[in-house]
Amino acid sequence: VSFGYEDVPPEEKTARVGAVFSRVAAKYDVMNDAMSGGMHRLWKDRFVRRVKPQPGEAILDMAGGTGDIAFRLAERGAEVTVADINRDMLDVGIERAIDRGLTGLAWSCQNAEELGYPRGMFDAYTIAFGIRNVTRIDKALAEAHRVLKYGGRFFCLEFSTTEWPGFKEAYDLYSHKLVPQIGKAIAGDEDSYRYLVESIRRFPPMPEFEAMIRAAGFANTRVEPIMGGLVAIHSGWKV
Ligand code: SAM
Repeated sequence: VSFGYEDVPPEEKTARVGAVFSRVAAKYDVMNDAMSGGMHRLWKDRFVRRVKPQPGEAILDMAGGTGDIAFRLAERGAEVTVADINRDMLDVGIERAIDRGLTGLAWSCQNAEELGYPRGMFDAYTIAFGIRNVTRIDKALAEAHRVLKYGGRFFCLEFSTTEWPGFKEAYDLYSHKLVPQIGKAIAGDEDSYRYLVESIRRFPPMPEFEAMIRAAGFANTRVEPIMGGLVAIHSGWKV
């Protein structure tokens, strides 16, 4: 399993990812704006439009972190459960929800690979910028399938590989040289951001990831690349 520039055994990856997010939690939201020039907000808006949350629907926002996706879903009337393996990220999210006057979200500390929910609980499962941090992605996808109702939908927003010529090179340079520097300047933490960049580079390309979603049992899978595939929305249905 890759971890930054090193390879670490799978049983260690989860703990090390945990440490990364505990370190970045307090600065997570400002760093997202700094690193993406605010663009992550537009990607998240588009993602939630694709999910089309309906009032009263039960949605599990997995790896929900500080709540960016969950808040957008809840504002459209969905009943949202935010689950994340990291307490520190959830704590920031709970504070943000209080500040926004958003009550009624459920917050739960859980590993995506092994969920404490019965089969068929949710109408939709969302995961944004989370799946690449999971150690055993196939297990997380199987769990997503299990906890969804029949007719339920899976939506994933994740970095991928842009195929726009020129842009790809500029992005590689930006992410490998500049992002760790921004991490150092704003969050005083270069290594965590080095890990985040490397985890993006090592994540499977779109067709491969779509095949993994199908292998977990999802039907009608789709991929929508954004900015040539810099970011992609993957979806599938439990039928
Ligand atoms: N979804 C949020 C967003 O879009 O802003 C947070 C994304 S953040 C980059 C990734 C999150 O994945 C972190 O909060 C981290 O704790 C969580 N995570 C990593 N591994 C996980 C796992 N195995 N199970 C659940 N959450 C996990």
